[in-house]
Amino acid sequence: CGVFGMYSASPNDLAWLTYLGLFALQHRGQEAAGMCVSDGDKFHVEKDLGLVTQVFDERRLDSVRLPNARVSIGHVRYSTTGSNLRFNAQPLTTRTNKGILGLAHNGNFVNALEVRSEMLSQGALFQTTNDSEVMLNLIARESDLDLVEATAAAMKRLRGGYACVLMSRTQLLGFRDPHGVRPLVIGQRGDGAWVLASEPCALYAVGARLIRDVLPGELVWFDREGLHSLTVEAKTPTPCSFEWIYFARSDGALDGVDIHESRVRMGEQLARERPVEADVVVPVPDSGIGAAIGYARESGIPFDYGLYKNPYAGRTFIAPTQEARELKVKMKLSPTSAVRGRRVILVDDSIVRGTTSRQIVNLLREAGATEVHFRVSSPPITHPCFYGIDTAARKELVASTHSVEEIRALIGADTLAFISERGLREAIGGPGLCGACFTGEYPAGTPLLNDVDKLA
Ligand code: 5GP
Ligand code: SF4
Ligand code: MG
Repeated sequence: CGVFGMYSASPNDLAWLTYLGLFALQHRGQEAAGMCVSDGDKFHVEKDLGLVTQVFDERRLDSVRLPNARVSIGHVRYSTTGSNLRFNAQPLTTRTNKGILGLAHNGNFVNALEVRSEMLSQGALFQTTNDSEVMLNLIARESDLDLVEATAAAMKRLRGGYACVLMSRTQLLGFRDPHGVRPLVIGQRGDGAWVLASEPCALYAVGARLIRDVLPGELVWFDREGLHSLTVEAKTPTPCSFEWIYFARSDGALDGVDIHESRVRMGEQLARERPVEADVVVPVPDSGIGAAIGYARESGIPFDYGLYKNPYAGRTFIAPTQEARELKVKMKLSPTSAVRGRRVILVDDSIVRGTTSRQIVNLLREAGATEVHFRVSSPPITHPCFYGIDTAARKELVASTHSVEEIRALIGADTLAFISERGLREAIGGPGLCGACFTGEYPAGTPLLNDVDKLA
């Protein structure tokens, strides 16, 4: 998911700016979008299933517009399975003794169900199956504390990988889990307005510059006096390596590490680790482009445009069923003449289920590629993510049940190789990294309970 928030001491069209911010974060979630806007008195919420541009047509955007808006938050949602329901769209809102609150959340609380069941037994009510509601209820029930203290208390109670934005009528808050698994950045506009966002691209979209990342375990808030900060609980930083591999947009940096440059370095590393003789290096667009540039640069084999991508197609993994995903590959990709009669090195960022990869190899062969050497800029994904990247259930992860040689045979490539885990860490550099989906070592814990419907 993607989150966004703004605090403006002077009146600003925050509905419009939040729309722009969410549009820049659309790649982080395409299932639902929503925002809250307040002017210190009124508090508007709109959310629905669909893309940002679909949810917020002119009329809908007008309905959340406030001439003297001061605070806003927004959310784009992505989930790969069943919970694509309207009542799970965010931001979530609730009325408390601190006034009405809105919360937008990226990531997962691994102990949300334990906390939820404890709260249910104490009489708490839940409207959704969303773990964000547990966070919101925890904050709401701390009626003796002010909003900042209540949020800090809730952060201490929940574990996992998360980045959240929270607003009241007069304050904007943002916080990141103790390991900093999910990203959150701070920006500021020339007119002084503060911005929080999952990625820098959303800051640039509203004319703000990047100030810094929210730190692991840090709670920041904004009011008339500006930016305040509290370190609630900081542990060894382990930001999600998948942000650099695939998820984040390439026009920015997270935790000080440039996304595009790190992808190029992954490709260079892959070329050193797994060289092969061939005529052309072809990326799977768009996610494989950075690594393919690096692979070509390091190997000296020319980079070429071997797969046309229909710019009107979204990310294929959003499609809910296998058949839909397979048809979407054809909607999205088709080979160019650059592969005809050539030995192709095909570069992609990851193999999840293996189905896209198999189809792409097939497309290239049909188009006359004489050899297809598949190179992947992430290690094999063998474990599920419990921190908000819905790669797939474990049984669907092809690398959890197949060896590299078996995957090669399955996708029909001449050779197949993945970057090593060490090589990936070197290519990203920076602080520590979460690589639990490659290693099974979860820095922020794993869930004990995992079926919300068995609770109530
Ligand atoms: P596959 O061959 O495993 O079906 O698909 C691989 C493609 O899925 C890659 O191009 C990669 O960009 C994309 N992908 C990356 N991350 C995710 C994710 O979180 N979920 C899913 N389902 N696909 C992803
Ligand atoms: Fe990222 Fe993988 Fe860790 Fe999930 S398990 S946070 S996808 S590195
Ligand atoms: Mg891709």
